Amino acid sequence: MSVTMLVERMTPFTSTIFAEITQLAVDTGAINLGQGFPDTDGPASLLADAAANITGGINQYPPGPGVPALREAVAAHQQRFYGLEVDPADVLVTVGATEAIASAVLSLCSAGDEVIAFEPYYDSYPAMTALSGATLRTVPLRAPDFSFDPDELRATFSARTRMVLLNSPHNPTGAVFDREQLQLIADLATEHDAIVVADEVYEHMTFDVPHIPIATLPGMAERTLTISSAGKTFSVTGWKIGWIHGPSELVAATRAVKQFLSYTAGAPLQPAVAAALGLPDEFYAGIATSLRGKRELLSAGLREAGFTVYQPRGTYFVVVDGRPLGFEDGYKLAYDLPTLCGVAAVPVSVFASSPEGVEATRPLVRFAFCKRDEVLTEAVGRLAGLR
Ligand SMILES: *Cc1c(COP(=O)(O)O)cnc(C)c1O
Repeated sequence: MSVTMLVERMTPFTSTIFAEITQLAVDTGAINLGQGFPDTDGPASLLADAAANITGGINQYPPGPGVPALREAVAAHQQRFYGLEVDPADVLVTVGATEAIASAVLSLCSAGDEVIAFEPYYDSYPAMTALSGATLRTVPLRAPDFSFDPDELRATFSARTRMVLLNSPHNPTGAVFDREQLQLIADLATEHDAIVVADEVYEHMTFDVPHIPIATLPGMAERTLTISSAGKTFSVTGWKIGWIHGPSELVAATRAVKQFLSYTAGAPLQPAVAAALGLPDEFYAGIATSLRGKRELLSAGLREAGFTVYQPRGTYFVVVDGRPLGFEDGYKLAYDLPTLCGVAAVPVSVFASSPEGVEATRPLVRFAFCKRDEVLTEAVGRLAGLR
């Protein structure tokens, strides 16, 4: 595809690794553990509600900010799980978390501003930062625990810092930031009067450690936009129903951009997601329980195959180092793996751009374990052939 007409600020972002790896997986018949989408459907009640809404005639434009039932359900969910007081008027429903991120960055950042993100990052962060005209500053997360160096974080802040894009539980590393780490981010954001955008799409997927929304830290609700999505929580990544909430002025700014990106979407899906957010505690506990078993299954197989495995504390991804098997470069490993053993994964270094970030992620690849147990078992069997 020729992209010679593309505006210059977007030229670094013309292809995504997922398309390439998916094509490679198809060509080689490999099990695709590259892209992170579940291979089973979400709760039956959610699917039935959505189907009933479609046949029941809920098919025209919903209100721009989202249907009231969903905005109320998001507020109730934040109160129920985190004790966060959220006014439904300050909840904006978006086309997935992706549009929430895009709208927040494009409405609040511009040329001359700096945006801080932890590296490796979710791939839309650098793209949206570039589109906004702002400059991305990154802080590397390093193995084995993918924590950050407090001094490096401190040094990344400046008088130009406008926003911190925070993702915890973290894709791709599986890190879950603890209270101490969040407090340092909060303190620095406050000191520099920066906005925190907290991407919490994996909020219900943690193992052994709690997910702490940064908005629950003292004084942080007034400078934090919190984002989540039905896609990950309810295993409906194709629905693209997300949301963002925070202080009225920040949400109003975000809404101003969002209304011209998509205006609105998902009329029959929004009320179904609203009902699902009220599912009993057993449902939410079950998400982590089920994923924990899958994490063990795939991690054990990867270890057995000879990789160094970095046990994730959250998300449905596990990152491994290929060096014990002779792979110095995760990029080469990801491209060879489908042919070598019939399993596909993604290199982690594509989610980094600074020299330090690329160096820290160079030998790493990411596998997704949000797949049926029989698929993971088959993948583990194939990986065993690598030795
Ligand atoms: C999947 C994902 C998103 C995008 O969520 P959608 O609701 O599908 O748009 C955003 N951030 C992170 C970290 C993700 O992994």
